[in-house]
Amino acid sequence: MSKREFQTEVNQLLQLIVHSLYSHPEIFLRELISNASDALDKLRHLTIADDAYKALPFDPRIDLELDEEKQTLTIADTGIGMNEEDLVSHLGTIARSGTKNFLSQLSGDAKKDSNLIGQFGVGFYSAFMVADTIEVVSRKAGEEQAWRWVSDGKSGFDVSPAERAVAGTTILLHFNEEGKQYANSWRLREIVKKYSNHIAFPIFLTYDKSEWNAEEKKSDKTRATEQVNAASALWRRPKNELTEDDYKELYKSVSGDSQDPLFWLHTKAEGSLEYTTLFYVPSKAPLDLYQAEYKVGVKLYVKRVFIMDDAKELLPQYLRFVRGIIDSEDLPLNVSREILQQNRVLTSIRTASVKKILGEFKNIATNQPELYLQFIAEYNRPLKEGLYGDFTNREALLELIRFKSTAVEGVTSLADAKGRMKEGQKGIYYITGGSEALLRSSPLLEIYKKKDIEVLILDDDIDEIVFSGIDKYGEIELKAINKTSTGEDLKDETEPDKAEELKPLLDLLKATLGDHVKDVRASVRLADSPSCIVSDEEEPSMQMQQMLRAMGQKDIPALKPTLEINPDHEIVKKLLSRTAEPIAQDAAWLLLDQALLMEGVTLKDPAAFVQRLNRVMNLSL
Ligand code: ADP
Ligand code: MG
Repeated sequence: MSKREFQTEVNQLLQLIVHSLYSHPEIFLRELISNASDALDKLRHLTIADDAYKALPFDPRIDLELDEEKQTLTIADTGIGMNEEDLVSHLGTIARSGTKNFLSQLSGDAKKDSNLIGQFGVGFYSAFMVADTIEVVSRKAGEEQAWRWVSDGKSGFDVSPAERAVAGTTILLHFNEEGKQYANSWRLREIVKKYSNHIAFPIFLTYDKSEWNAEEKKSDKTRATEQVNAASALWRRPKNELTEDDYKELYKSVSGDSQDPLFWLHTKAEGSLEYTTLFYVPSKAPLDLYQAEYKVGVKLYVKRVFIMDDAKELLPQYLRFVRGIIDSEDLPLNVSREILQQNRVLTSIRTASVKKILGEFKNIATNQPELYLQFIAEYNRPLKEGLYGDFTNREALLELIRFKSTAVEGVTSLADAKGRMKEGQKGIYYITGGSEALLRSSPLLEIYKKKDIEVLILDDDIDEIVFSGIDKYGEIELKAINKTSTGEDLKDETEPDKAEELKPLLDLLKATLGDHVKDVRASVRLADSPSCIVSDEEEPSMQMQQMLRAMGQKDIPALKPTLEINPDHEIVKKLLSRTAEPIAQDAAWLLLDQALLMEGVTLKDPAAFVQRLNRVMNLSL
């Protein structure tokens, strides 16, 4: 038996693994189980696809055997196995070109190198983090001779003939100091559940089970074998093999939710990238939906092996309510969070997933309207956030969002609002800023009611910010009715301009209100109210300014509203004939203050308001 040298690259890799990966030594088990699972996949494939292997027995299983006394663990599989040549080439050299490239980029600077390590699979050699000697006994499927490979991970390895009853591979680890913590059946069970619960083959653990012997008052140890994984990568099975209950059960296990999901979407991509996604929408919005530190609901798997469940880059933030799984064939097993951020594979998966998820929402909106209403009741708002953040899917999102409206009970889509547009209507109108009740009683709505034009009621606190950035729905303009410009839309060319006859009153109002208004104009949008306020196109509304200040933003410039008065209103008409009287000053202020109040703006000087009101009351009583 002669000592063989590791290829230089293997030595480099071993150095790196032992020195850079120390923070997570437990991943050795994930790597070895993943190799066993690969070996089983390979043999299964051969027994199906290759006539020469068809007759071979295939009894797939992975066995972990713990010997606490000897401080050893074996990981055995009934997979494809390795012959002498395989052992030398697979476990003594690095065959994968990706890893070779990686190693050639190493600088020798441990810090930089450990950042790079996330870019390739760590694999078999990671076991040297926890073992000072590793023995591999393997017999290749279809061959009689078995072989033993032994190494301490430093001085090279030996290969010699051995015996093994059936084809497969047994890996024996002699734990080192670092590895001793894993000579514990609870710990092993926990690690298998964490990383390998959904490996498709059963994983058994054989260990010394302690049981309390009440008669002899001592604990008895018996050798016990238990299956430790669920062995069901359900999402990898074809859809038609899965029942509703299968899907619901998996949902509950991945989400921790005890209720059934609202719906799910299971897809498999084959082509330049291979991956499976199974997304669920919970029936109730997660409790942390509006918290900055929300929990990510989608878990990342690579080849059925669990990788991480806290990667915010898997889906855009506005889809944070989605639960489920992304299982990729193309990412490396130990892909790190830093790598994910700029990984092209993940970027493609994410882009395609968002398209599919939004497509499914659309599909449900069209074909299951009742279900869609339940969905909207929980998730309309995060979709609006998407309008703000996801420019590429803006059109799709605009179709999905629902709005309260003056035209219908419940909610409506923009498409339906478009269908209800009147001849000559210049756009789809909406009002923002305040509660639904406040908005519905706004004087700004009066003219639209009169003309029977629909106005969408946008009462979410983010609506003004979101929709001020969205000018169009397809070809149709989206217009806020509290803007000075929307007044133009309402002008009736056949009616004479009222500005001239109102001039004395407008002058009085401007002189009295001075700095408190930007302008005072004759309104075309009022029916029952004497006055209203509007803002300029690019400026936040008065309510928005108030909200921003309340949120602690100090440097909001004091933007002034434009006051509009209703030329046809009795008060305005009377006031026009009495502009010279002192009471006209009070009336001027009251016109502004009532308009502010109707928009939910708090008056700066309530005492002055009450005094004026009382003077006017006194005169009229
Ligand atoms: P990877 O799994 O990414 O190829 P590893 O370092 O984990 O890299 O394994 C190296 C190679 O050793 C594998 O590609 C495989 O050919 C072989 N191998 C490892 N473990 C087993 C096993 N249990 N059965 C058969 N072959 C194995
Ligand atoms: Mg591997």
